[in-house]
Amino acid sequence: MKVLVINAGSSSLKYQLLDTASQEVLAKGLCERIGIDGKFTYKAPGKETIDAKDVAMPTHSEAIQAVLDALVDPANGVVGSMKEIEAVGHRVVHGGETFARSVRIDGKVMAALEECIPLAPLHNPANITGIKACTAVMGPDVPQVAVFDTAFHQTMPPVAYTYALPYEYYEQDKVRRYGFHGTSHKYVTQRAADMLGKPIEALKLISCHLGNGSSIAAVAGGKSVDTSMGFTPLAGLPMGTRSGDLDAGILEYLMNKHGMDIKEMLGVLNKKSGVQGVSGVSSDFRDLCAAAEDGNGRAALALDLFSYGVKKYIGAYAAAMGGVDAIIFTAGVGENDAQQRMAIASGLEFMGVKMDADANNIRGKEAIISAIDSKVKVLLIPTNEELMIALDTAELA
Ligand code: AMP
Repeated sequence: MKVLVINAGSSSLKYQLLDTASQEVLAKGLCERIGIDGKFTYKAPGKETIDAKDVAMPTHSEAIQAVLDALVDPANGVVGSMKEIEAVGHRVVHGGETFARSVRIDGKVMAALEECIPLAPLHNPANITGIKACTAVMGPDVPQVAVFDTAFHQTMPPVAYTYALPYEYYEQDKVRRYGFHGTSHKYVTQRAADMLGKPIEALKLISCHLGNGSSIAAVAGGKSVDTSMGFTPLAGLPMGTRSGDLDAGILEYLMNKHGMDIKEMLGVLNKKSGVQGVSGVSSDFRDLCAAAEDGNGRAALALDLFSYGVKKYIGAYAAAMGGVDAIIFTAGVGENDAQQRMAIASGLEFMGVKMDADANNIRGKEAIISAIDSKVKVLLIPTNEELMIALDTAELA
């Protein structure tokens, strides 16, 4: 089945057209600066690449129309007509407690998505706009499916998702750990089971999604039982520019000292912290490695802070599950940064992790990077959220 996968942001829209039978990407690209001055890119194997500026895109509807026009274009398109696109899968950030799995979108689902807006006020409205734009341009008969970042973590037990706050904040205000990157954690843990040749039901896995945003998930028997992100994606590990967990008392102290309101404070925690904040150099691990090699102590500290944070979560989640069969590295840093992987895994020999330095010297390819006699396997698995969304969509459509 040919499925169009859409990831709509407030002024951008990422798309991929996938064939779910062959798992091939037929075309992909990005609409940016929607409502501003419209930038459009399109790439398809063997076809001319489009990289156009000043494309009229006042709203997401024109952006979707531009995508469809490119896909059916007689010269550079990849389908004969729009009818060949049998379904659309949308990445939706927050499904609250309402959605524990992907869902075919109808009026009721749209109403429930609106109800989830307070939980993700920046992301969910953009996702909803993307869905409405597809309905407007493709018509109501093309099945659309919502695939949630939070859904995979809905299997967490109360002991993992409850904050030690007055309980009414959970009951009345829905304050709890939700977790994110669920589509990625689900994809890589399924792939890990395939690579290990074991049923996922029999495995205890720790999935480390380490990118610009990072989260770790403990996955037992194919179900997420704990994860490091929380009520929002600000929690857990130090990230590119996000602080991760910190003592909430710091907020009042810094706000008083520097005359910041809560919005400014959260701006610091989300955009100026993490490895960027500590190093003062960059949020990109390539820049940090280069700076650390040049003797920049703060860049080295930022890198150490990150690997130390990941290592602590691995220990914690092995304890939570009563063991671990395999650790998975994925996303930008996890797939590409051999040094970080080694720094994270070193010192875990006591729990049966033994790396193979040569096997670890690899980027962006599925591989077992632990030694043959390592009790706990360490896997590198490039994530593929779009494929996961397309497969869920094909199944439900
Ligand atoms: P993601 O959010 O998964 O797209 O990851 C993006 C991040 O991956 C970048 O900000 C970099 O920090 C990191 N990254 C990408 N390529 C490399 C590389 N070759 N070596 C180290 N880090 C990398």
